[in-house]
Amino acid sequence: MDIVCTPEELDLLERIGNAAQAMQVPCYLIGGFVRDKLLGRNTKDADFVCVGNGIELAHAVADTYPHKPHVSFFKNFGTAHFNLHGFDVEFVGARKESYSEHSRKPDVAPGTIEDDQKRRDFTINALAISLNKEDFGKLVDPFNGIEDLNNKILRTPLDPDITFSDDPLRMMRCVRFANQLGFDILPETFEAIQRNKERIKIVSGERVADELNKIMQTDKPSVGLDLLYRSGLLKEFFKQFTELAGTEMIEGKGHKDNFYHTLQVIDNVAARSNDLWLRWAALLHDIAKPATKRFEPGHGWTFHGHDAVGEKMVPRIFKQLKLPLNEKMKYVAKLVGLHLRPISLSKEDITDSAMRRLLFDAGEDLEDLMILCESDITSKNKQKVKRYLENFELVKKRLKEVEEADKIRNWQPPISGEEIMQLFNLQPSRDVGTLKTAIREAILDGIIPNTYEAAYAYLITKAAELGKHPVHS
Ligand code: ATP
Ligand code: MG
Repeated sequence: MDIVCTPEELDLLERIGNAAQAMQVPCYLIGGFVRDKLLGRNTKDADFVCVGNGIELAHAVADTYPHKPHVSFFKNFGTAHFNLHGFDVEFVGARKESYSEHSRKPDVAPGTIEDDQKRRDFTINALAISLNKEDFGKLVDPFNGIEDLNNKILRTPLDPDITFSDDPLRMMRCVRFANQLGFDILPETFEAIQRNKERIKIVSGERVADELNKIMQTDKPSVGLDLLYRSGLLKEFFKQFTELAGTEMIEGKGHKDNFYHTLQVIDNVAARSNDLWLRWAALLHDIAKPATKRFEPGHGWTFHGHDAVGEKMVPRIFKQLKLPLNEKMKYVAKLVGLHLRPISLSKEDITDSAMRRLLFDAGEDLEDLMILCESDITSKNKQKVKRYLENFELVKKRLKEVEEADKIRNWQPPISGEEIMQLFNLQPSRDVGTLKTAIREAILDGIIPNTYEAAYAYLITKAAELGKHPVHS
């Protein structure tokens, strides 16, 4: 089989072939590396399976390198791994697997190469290439994976109900590969996902999140997310997201399907940015629409407050999906909370103070917020989209002007809380907060200029209203 390898990769294959020959164990290159080479995709790891002891083989191969890379291994699983200048090399002994109902961790027993290929998830991931002297380079393909590869089809090597029920993570991988590689899922395979969707509950949330994030990082995440939705998998672990789907009609008035709208917004963001968390902000921007939906007779559908409610929902959702509960979560929550602000600026008369307020609230995330908002304009009416985008350009221009004049982003009001406490001999208290906020608001509203002197004078009058006077030492 012709695959194009770099000189380093070829060198590795020969070392492995020679070491396996010396140990008299048949050995094969298998899985993602073969698939990706045949598809002309980049590779960053390679898997090898030998009919014998994979851990011993890994040590024998590592020993042929002058720098002897460190081999890590799991005796119980019979797997071993070392790293060559950032390239991961994995070894396993060929095995048969048998599963119990409650775990995706199988009992394993030594097996033939074909046994090992049967336990793989898809025919295109079961392709193997011989590294043995007598037929080095020969494709070993008992399930006709090469035809599926050429036809861009995902199909399980065994009955899909067995493959998916044994290890339900494979259902997530199926959707992820369909999305990443641009393949179709064979209808029988897809129907088996629909039948086995509930089994996803035996998979750890972290693994599900990992696959979900891989879907979110593709060029067009809507494809994978829609497959998750239509297979029923999405509802099993992320019900709130599926509740955006559908529309309702009252008094002849409908509203858009917020699930498909959200998918469009994610793709729009993906076309503009590779940032995973900005894409998550797109996914979650309308998450509170079902919770805030009302029909106002004579007027129509409203979703008042879905921005603020959505912002509050983000931590719970991150926890549920085992996403990181750190500054990334705060960033996503912040963008969800702010996602209507730039749009509302483009609709009303734009005052400088509204601009300053947005600059202050968005701070260093302003560019990302603008990408999100621009991506949120998804009307089917091309004229309308054009008009919105033009207004939006105007807002961007004005924001730039205000920022250049006032330097509000990453700005701290000129008088700090500590200074206020010292000046009036106050303990940390509500009054300190009130005074601090009053100064900030006055500057943002343009009531006083952004200088220390103006802020000081303003502070003295505001404090006097609270009956506080500076203590002079
Ligand atoms: P990628 O590296 O892009 O995630 P991959 O196919 O190489 O794709 P890996 O997780 O690196 O995926 O796994 C390597 C190989 O191991 C796969 O090609 C497949 O043959 C097999 N494999 C991995 N995970 C599973 C699984 N859950 N069930 C069955 N086979 C699997
Ligand atoms: Mg891989």
